[in-house]
Amino acid sequence: MICLSYSDYSHSQSNGRYRPISTDCFLLEFISLIFYPTYDLQVMSQYTHNCRLLARRCHQWHHVQRPYLSTCSQTGPKVCIIGSGPAGFYTAQQILKTTTPIWTGKVWSCTRPPRSKATAENERCSFVGNVSVGKDVSIHELQQAYNVVVLSYGAEADRELGIPGEGLVGVESARSFVGWYNGLPEHRHLQPNLNTEVAVVIGQGNVALDIARILLTPIRLLQETDITEYALEALTRSKIRRVHVVGRRGPLQAAFTIKELREMVTMPDCRTVFTAEDFSGVEEALAGIPRPRKRLTELMLKSVTGRGQTEQEVQRLADASREFYVKFLRSPIQVLPSADGKRLRALELAVNVLEGSGKSVRARSTDDREVIDCGLILRSVGYRSVAIEKSIPFDHSHGTIAHENGKVNGKQGLYCSGWVKRGPTGVILDTMSDGFQTGKLILRDIESGVVSAETRPGSEAILRHLSNKGVQTVSFDDWKRIDAVEIERGRERGKPREKLTDLKEMLRICTER
Ligand code: NAP
Repeated sequence: MICLSYSDYSHSQSNGRYRPISTDCFLLEFISLIFYPTYDLQVMSQYTHNCRLLARRCHQWHHVQRPYLSTCSQTGPKVCIIGSGPAGFYTAQQILKTTTPIWTGKVWSCTRPPRSKATAENERCSFVGNVSVGKDVSIHELQQAYNVVVLSYGAEADRELGIPGEGLVGVESARSFVGWYNGLPEHRHLQPNLNTEVAVVIGQGNVALDIARILLTPIRLLQETDITEYALEALTRSKIRRVHVVGRRGPLQAAFTIKELREMVTMPDCRTVFTAEDFSGVEEALAGIPRPRKRLTELMLKSVTGRGQTEQEVQRLADASREFYVKFLRSPIQVLPSADGKRLRALELAVNVLEGSGKSVRARSTDDREVIDCGLILRSVGYRSVAIEKSIPFDHSHGTIAHENGKVNGKQGLYCSGWVKRGPTGVILDTMSDGFQTGKLILRDIESGVVSAETRPGSEAILRHLSNKGVQTVSFDDWKRIDAVEIERGRERGKPREKLTDLKEMLRICTER
């Protein structure tokens, strides 16, 4: 069974607009797009919630048509995309863009947003939520029903550190913490220890910064967001005042990006603290590095040196009651237990030096050690894809599907895109080009006859199968009911929405007419 987390949008306190907490986390969602090259599109999802993402994506992306539950035309090859995070969507977008003559019937361009009712009601897209591929339906069954199946289900598991004490109470995974504040049903019962002044986040990617941002953002700003009510309540009582984000390499290898760091350095009532000696030689290296990293490094250097800070800025930093520490060149060695041996008490770090150059720079631990006393540790060292089914060739050492340019090894008509294809790295643009690449490959294979063009039953067979198994699927219209309830409940609380976190309640709302 695939059990993927869903990501959502968080309020960006710096600009007052919504933005994804974790753009690439979209890939973690479990949504299947089953769409028809005859320009019908259908979407399946494990979570009813995921449709929110789908809807927002569809409304936001100018090139993606809004999905509709359709009766879908039954002519032409049929394509099923499992996963409607960016990878699934960009793959779909690429295929929908085409005007290749193999499609017959309702051909229209997918390069404009829906502008009229007629366009909006085009039967080319539908959503089926609350479906688990691998459990409710197998890949084999999907392949029987569709000419092409695309695996774009992202990375659902965490990477672990493998250090002593990792299992102590108080050590949480980034995934569960992000799921908790986003109201993901399976993480809503998490009880992160916020009754402590110091939290440590291990890893220096954007997820780590998202977590630090949630822990340090003043409550009045979080209140304006759609963060779940229980997380808001817990964070209101939070005693956390210092968050250390720890990375094993140096500033030139930090995995976070400039936008996320800028939000931290400009956060009200929070002071970002770097260690000046971590930056030895960094200024000199600036000339030879690519522009995005150069700009990121300049932002860090500005914060380290205080260069160019206005008096107002200096005052803001001096008055701040919370601190965000970015610690480089430190590797976690062990989590130290409390006296009773149950809870964490501190994190022991090794001081590292760097070896090698360019992309192959590695951290080597020295004998020097440091200890940070803390009550909460969040492991944020990246995600990992898992095999969806034993029958699908999987490269366990890289955590990706075994494939050639997106074509799954030895499996005709089976493709992959996104993190499950290339690993959980890169920003949204990387996912976009990856999705496009797989989309183009599929089109080529359909056109050249590599993929069988025989008529397949498509969703008709799959929906019947799901219904026979007693799976309550969720359509886009169903989702709109959930959406309306969330918005209404949010309105009552002066928030953009109050997310539902109970699957049973969501499913009940879907059946209310
Ligand atoms: P990530 O970007 O891969 O960062 C993982 C971090 O963990 C790196 O600093 C890495 O250090 C460190 N790490 C890995 N193994 C470690 C170990 N054994 N010990 C210590 N440190 C270790 O992963 P992520 O933050 O989970 O993000 C995943 C993806 O989502 C990224 O592509 C990210 O850009 C994206 N994302 C984007 C946004 C956004 O656009 N707003 C938000 C969230 C996430 P090394 O570099 O030394 O390996």
